[in-house]
Amino acid sequence: MPDRRRITGRETGFHRFRIGEREAAVVTDGPLLLTPPGEVLLTLAPEQIADALHAAFLPSGPMRIEQNILLVNIDGGLVLFDNGMGSSQLFGPLTGRLLESLADAGVAADEIDALVLSHAHPDHCWGTMRDDGTPTFPNATIYMAETELRFWETCTDPAMSDMVKGVAKHLAPLRDRIRFFTDGQEFLPGLRAIAAPGHTPGHTIFTIASGEEQLCVLCDIAFHDPLSFAYPAAHSAYDQDQVQGAETRSRTLAWLAETRMRLISYHAPWPGIGHVARSGAAYRFVPEPMIRIED
Ligand SMILES: [Zn+2]
Repeated sequence: MPDRRRITGRETGFHRFRIGEREAAVVTDGPLLLTPPGEVLLTLAPEQIADALHAAFLPSGPMRIEQNILLVNIDGGLVLFDNGMGSSQLFGPLTGRLLESLADAGVAADEIDALVLSHAHPDHCWGTMRDDGTPTFPNATIYMAETELRFWETCTDPAMSDMVKGVAKHLAPLRDRIRFFTDGQEFLPGLRAIAAPGHTPGHTIFTIASGEEQLCVLCDIAFHDPLSFAYPAAHSAYDQDQVQGAETRSRTLAWLAETRMRLISYHAPWPGIGHVARSGAAYRFVPEPMIRIED
């Protein structure tokens, strides 16, 4: 065999799908490289973590989790849910791909009409501003929970200084473009906000409806597949309020399993679309087959 052959095509960063009649895509910002799960899931025994990782054929050691950013066409306008790490390499060198992924999907940054922010952690809103102080999405109205913005604007905890600085850089300059949604509000056609506090005070998940179909945008209810699903009651160091985070996670997963609602999970394996199945107090993320849509 010749020894010069190479597979040189670039893998694209988007996956097209539909929510009822709405066109949608998942666009990646690239994976985050994080500490081992045992440093985050503080109430689990090391053996529980080791066994779950082993059963899922995952390595122990540092976690590598996705950033599955949802793009949906709502009545002709393009809505983006969260926007990744921007230029920051706080969680490794593989992030910051969002604009490239949008370009792969045939979408320019100035075509984004609305930015929906689930919360203000780095991997969800640090793509809002460019380093030159201009907005990445110049025509986007920003939607988020007022509780979330207020929390970070008044936070004085030194341990949170990175996030406070991030909010000052990415959200403060765009305050006049921010619209607040409230719990239960349908703030864009077919798009409803559901307060899901604990991870952060204003953390919000969403449902998108089209005809009979509905998709839940799960945001950071679960950061790890399988651990967050298998042990919803485990306390997570990533949650601002660990008790409330565990309660919200348990309640939300129970609801999704009961209603059999389709969902997209921000940090689940690419592209993160699927369902949640229940067995006793534990849950399982069941990924949906990736069907290619060419039109
Ligand atoms: Zn996150």
